[in-house]
Amino acid sequence: DQARRLNLTQAVFDKDMYGNPAANLSLMSEMMRATEKGEMSLYYQPKLKVRTGRYESVEALSRWFHPDRGFISPDQFIPQAEETGHIRPFTEWVIRQSIEDQKRLLAEGKPIAVAINISGALVGDPEFARKARSMIVGASGPITLEITETAVMTNPEKAIEHLNAWRESGARISIDDYGTGQSSLAYLQMIPSDELKLDRQFVSNLNANARGRMLIKSTIDLAHNLGLEVVAEGVETETDLAALKLLGSDWIQGYHLSRPLPISELAEFLAVPEETMLRSQSS
Ligand code: C2E
Ligand code: MG
Ligand code: MG
Ligand code: MG
Repeated sequence: DQARRLNLTQAVFDKDMYGNPAANLSLMSEMMRATEKGEMSLYYQPKLKVRTGRYESVEALSRWFHPDRGFISPDQFIPQAEETGHIRPFTEWVIRQSIEDQKRLLAEGKPIAVAINISGALVGDPEFARKARSMIVGASGPITLEITETAVMTNPEKAIEHLNAWRESGARISIDDYGTGQSSLAYLQMIPSDELKLDRQFVSNLNANARGRMLIKSTIDLAHNLGLEVVAEGVETETDLAALKLLGSDWIQGYHLSRPLPISELAEFLAVPEETMLRSQSS
């Protein structure tokens, strides 16, 4: 029922988008060229594993530096790529590129897990599922795929089948942006997953009041009871970092630790002992 409602919303959304097809198409025709011309790059935002005190994973985030338009945010070009169908080749490029970077870092003695954002539009796509699977199998380190709950709700049967297949090939599944929109406990237990990623907006409940804190605490406990690790995203202060550790978050990510970095800066960042990094960040 809920899935059908979401399909309807999607249909209306898509129709609206045809309101401005010219703008979308010209941007998108440049998008794939941009990957070839080197205008498109991946930045990596480190994630701290609390238990070990080490940066054991990074999230790949797309960056487009357009020669005329300047910086174009992924919040702008990813939705457009989803509407025009460019999202599939683009995501394949993201996976290929990040797996290559992971291999390079390993060769430099910096083994790291890589998390890749997968658009909802692709989670139910069998062709993409196969392609992604073969790339995951070839990776030289752990891969996490970040998906949103709504991605699963649109076509639960196909989505669950693909998530299972990706897990069988060794990828971890992370539920991204949890605590925004239609996060539902009912769906949570049916999505094959390994990790729950609390959205920055949700994490900000920390500072609301005692109830906001309790909400985060309960969600972390619930995730653990379901066998999921928890990542707190968008952590911007030392106070929040300390609070989230206390509440049991397994991973911390946010500007307080590091912004997304180009691969060269990431390599440097990972070369510095974590203790030093934490001290220099908070001083
Ligand atoms: P997301 O996956 O939820 O990524 C988190 C976003 O929050 C990123 O924005 C990141 O730079 C930002 N962020 C991280 N820590 C902090 C913090 O402490 N404070 C604040 N204010 N922001 C923080 P970004 O890179 O602009 O990406 C936005 C969204 O675009 C991502 O949200 C993701 O949904 C999407 N996206 C980015 N790259 C890709 C991609 O390659 N493929 C797909 N499908 N989506 C992507
Ligand atoms: Mg993400
Ligand atoms: Mg997120
Ligand atoms: Mg988010």
